[in-house]
Amino acid sequence: MESPFGPGAAQPLEGWQGGSPHFLLDLHTHTVASGHAYSTIQEMAQAAATKGIQYLGITEHAPGIPGTCSPIYFRNLHVVPRQMYGVRLLLGAELNILDTHGTLDLDEYHYQLLDIRIAGIHSLCWTGGTRRENTNGMLAAIHNPWTHIISHPADGTAELYFEPIVLAARDTHTLLEINSSSLNPVRHKAAARPNNLELLQLCKKYDVPVILGSDAHISFSIADYQYALPLLAETQFPAELVVNDKPDFCFQYLGIDLGGYS
Ligand SMILES: [Zn+2]
Ligand SMILES: [Zn+2]
Repeated sequence: MESPFGPGAAQPLEGWQGGSPHFLLDLHTHTVASGHAYSTIQEMAQAAATKGIQYLGITEHAPGIPGTCSPIYFRNLHVVPRQMYGVRLLLGAELNILDTHGTLDLDEYHYQLLDIRIAGIHSLCWTGGTRRENTNGMLAAIHNPWTHIISHPADGTAELYFEPIVLAARDTHTLLEINSSSLNPVRHKAAARPNNLELLQLCKKYDVPVILGSDAHISFSIADYQYALPLLAETQFPAELVVNDKPDFCFQYLGIDLGGYS
């Protein structure tokens, strides 16, 4: 029977040669605190539990995005339990890559308070340049030791050369995200599909792991990877290079120690 929370989580990957993984994590989601998302932390955690998700990242937009929370929101995250409804929460931020130097918003004082740090380019607060310059900005963000994951690198917001990005991600143990939301036809991101296919082909060529991200802005969309999965099938992407069903590997690879929250 169809879950009231829609497709996602715990669904076998029919048609993907990788087999039938049981996805246990989604590390890129937003709550009402981001200003244009619609569920609370508790609603998100409850939905994650219903979907069989064991690790939920809640990564609010950093201040470069209009209407998101202020820095004080991130400073006060210590009041939120990291376990809810049997789900381990990682509370963090989706930082903005602001320019071709790879400058990120917020600051190190705040970074060290966060369980997880994603960085991505958003048109609302991005000053780009040539394709080469954009790539340099992305490479700087990847080499930033605070960065765990790059959100939607292939959504087409900035023109990029993907080969050096994949190699830098491999060298720094930064995960590149295959972002399901940006492949949703309603977003009209024409470059997202060919770009993500190219990214997956390069990750396959160089044996570089990727992470699927729902980028859920409402609880129903947690671990909904419906727009990303067909690309994995199309590229015959190796199951062993997708971390969403391998939490131990994922957190070890990223250097995230969850011991304190168990
Ligand atoms: Zn984003
Ligand atoms: Zn996001």
